[in-house]
Amino acid sequence: MSGASVNIRDLVKTYLDNRGKPTFTAVKSISLDIDPGEFMVLVGPSGCGKSTTLRMIAGLERVTSGTISIDGRVVNHLEPKDRGVAMVFQSYALYPHFTVFKNMAYALTLAKKTKEIISEIVGRTAKALQLNHLMGRKPQALSGGQRQRVALGRAIVRDPKVFLFDEPLSNLDAKMRVQMRSEINQLHGDLGATMIYVTHDQVEAMTMGDRICVMRDGKIMQVADPLNLYLCPDNLFVAGFIGSPPMNLLKGKVRRRDGHLYFIENGERDILAVPLEDSLHELAGRYIDREIVFGIRPENITNRPKARAGAPIQMTVQVAEPMGGESLISLRSGTGNLVARIRGEHLFRLNETVTIQINMEKVILFDPNTEEAIRQAN
Ligand code: ADP
Repeated sequence: MSGASVNIRDLVKTYLDNRGKPTFTAVKSISLDIDPGEFMVLVGPSGCGKSTTLRMIAGLERVTSGTISIDGRVVNHLEPKDRGVAMVFQSYALYPHFTVFKNMAYALTLAKKTKEIISEIVGRTAKALQLNHLMGRKPQALSGGQRQRVALGRAIVRDPKVFLFDEPLSNLDAKMRVQMRSEINQLHGDLGATMIYVTHDQVEAMTMGDRICVMRDGKIMQVADPLNLYLCPDNLFVAGFIGSPPMNLLKGKVRRRDGHLYFIENGERDILAVPLEDSLHELAGRYIDREIVFGIRPENITNRPKARAGAPIQMTVQVAEPMGGESLISLRSGTGNLVARIRGEHLFRLNETVTIQINMEKVILFDPNTEEAIRQAN
């Protein structure tokens, strides 16, 4: 195992204009601990500060305040080459006039390794990346996938403790992206190095990360493993960002009627009313007559009666997307819309009435003011 821990404390980045005047704070006091050998993904919409964070770890961007430690040592003032990190860019950043061999050997040449050692290391790495038949070519004679493998190889030969990836697969076509995704995953398993991977693609984040750090507007919204992030989003942002199609998030109020609690979706009339099961009473009880957001994932809505699901609700099919073994259907009741992922080989018709049930154990309630999930008080 050769991975290092990376510890980020209260990290801030304010960009300055060329007169030294602050222009924009891209990273707003984030703290994050990455374990040795961990694959950590930074994900979030464009402009949320992911690349800035990565570039500060790499040493390509000055830190405004806070600290970055690698292997327990503060590296804020170290040159990039002295940090034990290697970065792989979206643009590949290969030397166009160098062959594949020379591109991969460059860092070792700079480090004044002997010819024999360089040959051995580059040869071994090229073999692992299936590049050995391309060693004499220049980058322009390579496909996007091959160029990205050379960029990976160039990072690997340096034997870094931490790999930093900045959207490395964005320039590849869909098929090649899936293949490179699994190659990088395998590489992570083989090398045992710490990897920090920036992407705006939530599917990439979910399939690659040991843990995922979701960012928005220069702040961390949640850090968790993929399953926890999916099942227990801390806030509305994460709930809406992770998952495709996203979680249904309905705005409305909790009302008491005849001793029972209901979620009543906002609307003038013919509103969607969902009876809340006993299991949700404690949480919803704190919000009677107050605004609330009702969250349910599409796969937790069923059209087959289930003993553990909530009371039946009649809705009308607005859009149906049959996908063979399952269908995505958009349903309406009053002003309320729900997207459901229904298993089974069934063709739904437009305007068909469907009786659905919501799996109440999977409902997540959010406070629309704080935007945070409402959880059981400890
Ligand atoms: P992401 O990688 O999440 O897309 P970035 O870290 O690249 O986001 O950028 C975060 C924010 O900082 C963006 O709003 C971007 O416009 C801004 N930014 C990036 N570089 C500079 C710069 N050199 N000067 C001023 N603002 C910048």
